[in-house]
Amino acid sequence: MCYALDVKTPDTLLDAIRYFSDQDRCRVFVASLRWPQGPVCPRCGAIEPLFLQTRKLWKCRACKKQFSVKVGTIFEDSPIGLDKWLPALWMIVNAKNGVSSYEIARSIGVTQKTAWFMMHRIRLAMQTGTFRKLGGEVEVDETFIGGRARFMHKDKREKKIEGTGALGKAAVVGLLERHGKDGYSTVILKHIPNIRRRALMPEVHHHVEMGAEVFTDALPSYDDLGAVYMHKVIDHAEKYAEGKIHTNGLENFWSLLKRAIKGTYVSVEPFHLFRYLDEQALRFNTRKIKDAERFVRVLAGIVGKRLTYHALTGAEATT
Ligand SMILES: [Zn+2]
Repeated sequence: MCYALDVKTPDTLLDAIRYFSDQDRCRVFVASLRWPQGPVCPRCGAIEPLFLQTRKLWKCRACKKQFSVKVGTIFEDSPIGLDKWLPALWMIVNAKNGVSSYEIARSIGVTQKTAWFMMHRIRLAMQTGTFRKLGGEVEVDETFIGGRARFMHKDKREKKIEGTGALGKAAVVGLLERHGKDGYSTVILKHIPNIRRRALMPEVHHHVEMGAEVFTDALPSYDDLGAVYMHKVIDHAEKYAEGKIHTNGLENFWSLLKRAIKGTYVSVEPFHLFRYLDEQALRFNTRKIKDAERFVRVLAGIVGKRLTYHALTGAEATT
């Protein structure tokens, strides 16, 4: 393809690295996605700012403030150039089984710590925040992820086991809508405190529309679903499927998810688990679109999202 200075999207990682090696091109690319009608002052909303060629910044004619394309996005305050951010974003959104911070660090030439922080900011852009409820045929199932309990002291371990009910692992509920509007299934994942009724029911009510057909296993926590949904149960002690009554879509998803987490991430801290879940859900839900399209879709989610290093690590320390 031709690499003119307009918005063309690269097709492969190699293309992306080559294409985004030019800072000017990066800026034009992000600016045209962010401001399709031309740059707008992020502070006062005035249009048609001056472009300061030497500083590569815009200056607002109304409030006189200068701004870069990074202001008000996940890239704000980052000393890392877009020529590194954009290939990193490409790698993360398109790696089928996930990618480690070590791999990002090596590929784009930053430290592992920097790569780790970049990845968390990118995951923030990957949170789709969809408010659409799932409908039609919906599978609901739960699983446990992690299991660092074996590395803990015995007293601590016992406490932890009592607390979560499954060896200190993190409980996750999955909700999967079969053949949605585009013909493909969509998944929503949530990190929940445990798999008791009190933790599971609100998630189902929040994400699944009334009257939907809901398929679960025989876990008693799901017993009340029949009040609002057409609830069908498959008892895994007996068999795994009876016609359309099964949770095989989620079973397959869980094995993908666990392979990705085991193979790529050395350990997932429970505090950060939701970020990994969002990342995996987004990749799954966009599995039928092209890499370039997925990249652009996530890049469109950079605006209005910020994550400071302090928020990321400070919050972790108190969890
Ligand atoms: Zn302004």
